[in-house]
Amino acid sequence: MEWLPENYKNSWTLVKPVSRTGIGLHTGIETQVTLLPSKDKGFYVSWVNSSQPPIKLHPSHVAQSPLCTTIELGKQKLSTVEHLLAALIGCGLTHVHILVNGNEIPLLDGSSIEWVEAIAEAGIIKLNSSNKTEIVINEPVVVYKGLSMITATPANEFRLIGIIDFPYPAIGKQIFSLELTPKSFVNEIAPARTFGFKDQIDHLVSKGLIKGGNLKNSLVCDESSWLNPPLRFQNEPVRHKLLDLIGDLALIGLPKAQVLVYRGSHALHSEFAKAIQSVCSLK
Ligand SMILES: [Zn+2]
Repeated sequence: MEWLPENYKNSWTLVKPVSRTGIGLHTGIETQVTLLPSKDKGFYVSWVNSSQPPIKLHPSHVAQSPLCTTIELGKQKLSTVEHLLAALIGCGLTHVHILVNGNEIPLLDGSSIEWVEAIAEAGIIKLNSSNKTEIVINEPVVVYKGLSMITATPANEFRLIGIIDFPYPAIGKQIFSLELTPKSFVNEIAPARTFGFKDQIDHLVSKGLIKGGNLKNSLVCDESSWLNPPLRFQNEPVRHKLLDLIGDLALIGLPKAQVLVYRGSHALHSEFAKAIQSVCSLK
């Protein structure tokens, strides 16, 4: 783990390009993603064989998507970006160009760990940039939707508290908190896989959705137990929820704040990112 930055204070990019290919959860279509070094701050996306210049990702690009985070860039869409973006920002990267040849980021094993391994393979390098990377909030932020809520209060580092509460005994109530650093991200969050419920999955499959989902890339439970154990962590679902939140915050950066999320969702995260952006300053 010596290759990782100690904290999120500086600017980092990749040493060389690295590619991964895999199936998208929703489309079931194979896509190749190449991560490239970049001189420009932020995460940029472009398509192979397109004349369009790379577009810097921004919260205003997030489109309505209950099951994953989809971004709309002009006429192009790119779905399920959150696990890749979580790996980039979680590892401390700030300057990356994402080149794709399709419209959905591969799910790989359902977590961020294979993206972390790709980043490790490429290597990362600190930039002598005067770019400010620390996002400071000057007041508390609260966003809620029905019973779901997320709050941020000013803090000296990025602390996360996740709480989930599902009526399925296999999951039930789970709470997990940590101070996020590149190292704690890789050890505690990145390996946590996406999860779902058999009855809901059967319904989605019957509607022609989640064509690429299977028991190798998602944890699935029925009313009483997991269909494909073992879990990587006893509380893997709540950790994955924090992974999704980190991915959704990648569009603005990680705020110096204590963030508490109860029953999070991509829609809640994206409203939260916009709310943080409206009160934050860069230090
Ligand atoms: Zn996810």
